Amino acid sequence: MKNKHECCYCGELTSYELCRDCYYEAKDGFIIKNEDGIWIRNIKKGNEYRFYDENKNYYLKQEILNEFEMRFFNIVRSTLSKKYAIIPQVNLQSIITTDSIKRNDELYRNVDFALFYAKDFTPFLIIELNGQQHYTNEYNKERDKSIKQICDRVQLPILTIDIKDLRKMKNSEIFNIMKKVISYLNPSFFKKLFKKQVDKMDLTWTKEYIKKTR
Ligand SMILES: [Zn+2]
Repeated sequence: MKNKHECCYCGELTSYELCRDCYYEAKDGFIIKNEDGIWIRNIKKGNEYRFYDENKNYYLKQEILNEFEMRFFNIVRSTLSKKYAIIPQVNLQSIITTDSIKRNDELYRNVDFALFYAKDFTPFLIIELNGQQHYTNEYNKERDKSIKQICDRVQLPILTIDIKDLRKMKNSEIFNIMKKVISYLNPSFFKKLFKKQVDKMDLTWTKEYIKKTR
């Protein structure tokens, strides 16, 4: 019997360069030899689509916000106090995390807008402008439900405005709604409520309010 020595990747005793487990991992390309001849984990394996691809052409988008998003953004931006900031296209994983060691793919979702307290950049409101496809497309419905469930868990309220409604609203009406929502969620009030009375964070009343203002 051959002398046993340490597996070059994991250190397990073996008669070969790699132990049995590592041999199969190497066969499948999960561990590879680097240019210095050292066995390393192949971080690109299974992540092929998550890195730069030289075969693609990359372009800057012509239009990042659509007509309605741009209009809404401009109105809110021009009327918000300096205490708050509105950011479009916020990815959930930049404001929410988990205790899981798995990849949080469910957080790789953009919401239309997030409002932050400018002082410490704490998010306090998500705003989604929903077009028709949010109500008819099953995948979009699941996506919206998932976002709602995640935001509920961190007690981040979502204000949803139908583009159908937005289309009919005057700038001053949009301004008034946002003023009302923000005063409802004002920082001290919000902090007092935080983790205590989540039901107060419910924004379903805004739906009625938006209908009334039309
Ligand atoms: Zn090994």
